[in-house]
Amino acid sequence: MNYMSGHKLYYHLDRLVEWKKDNNVSPVYAEIGPTSLCNHRCLMCGYEHLGHKNESLEYGRMMELVEELHQSGINSIVFAGDGEPLLNKATIPSIERATQLGVDCGLSTNGFLLDEKKAAILAGSLKWIRFSINGGNNKEYSLVHRTSEKAFDTVINNLGMLGQLKSERGHNITIGVQCVMLPENMDSISELADIAKDSGADYFIVKPFYPVEKISYRSGEIHSDAIELLRHKLKGMTDDNFSADIRLLELESNSGKRVYKKCYGIDFIVIITSTGDVYSCLPHIGDERFKFGNIHENCFPEIWSGKRKKDVKEFIDSLNKNSCQPNCRNHRINEFLWDLKHPHMHKNFI
Ligand code: SF4
Repeated sequence: MNYMSGHKLYYHLDRLVEWKKDNNVSPVYAEIGPTSLCNHRCLMCGYEHLGHKNESLEYGRMMELVEELHQSGINSIVFAGDGEPLLNKATIPSIERATQLGVDCGLSTNGFLLDEKKAAILAGSLKWIRFSINGGNNKEYSLVHRTSEKAFDTVINNLGMLGQLKSERGHNITIGVQCVMLPENMDSISELADIAKDSGADYFIVKPFYPVEKISYRSGEIHSDAIELLRHKLKGMTDDNFSADIRLLELESNSGKRVYKKCYGIDFIVIITSTGDVYSCLPHIGDERFKFGNIHENCFPEIWSGKRKKDVKEFIDSLNKNSCQPNCRNHRINEFLWDLKHPHMHKNFI
């Protein structure tokens, strides 16, 4: 199964029909950043520029937010953000509550803080968990995550613990491992793929590093032979129970110009940060021009139907989308929605 490419908006036809009539539809997916604190300092962290300040959503407000999102008609919530979500004590109760309400939940984590109790709750609540593990041995892991070498053992143990829980209790959680490919970890990625498979993960995905302005780290060259070798190895590991891949195609297909002139995807995906700010998209966090409001000033439904959001959308409409970060979360969705609003002149020749 392909877990991480393309988009799935076509499964939400009712909402698409409403959206096409220019109605303000509820988002399908919300990403919450429970805290900006992080116990790791990855070399290539995309949020380094935000400073990992001591900002966290307070317990009560986060629980209310889950209720508000549910009332708005949200289908899924991912707990991720610019810090490690498990550093906020409200994250697991929020996941449990959202799941009780019928909202699908996902968690992106470095996996260091899992223990048996947390793993048991998460295995029974989450639709998926994605471990960010950027090295396949103690040395390369600690070099990239800038932690002690022992941290690698802890994370791998935790991954195995969750894999075992899943197989013993038959939980429906999808366990993924994601690794950003860098010269610093290239020699051990193949080892990491083996570890992921042996630990009971469902997939292993290798992503290229995207050098964007806000990230100070710059990657050296990785020889194409090494990439090809890895691609070959991952292909050979894929079977009915495990998939492994490199997302290079994503990079290649997004290096060209965007065809869409409007960012329609922001009607379906919303970002809520650890400060309570509600943003249009991840790449523009911190830029007030992309901010719809703050959940400490208004409840989520007020923000989503508010004037400020309309103004921000107008501003985004006026932007040249090619100035945005390549391969942003909404890119595939925008291509699809642009096509839906601007159909092919031969659309009836199916
Ligand atoms: S196209 Fe630009 S405005 Fe739209 S989601 Fe991507 S980065 Fe954000």
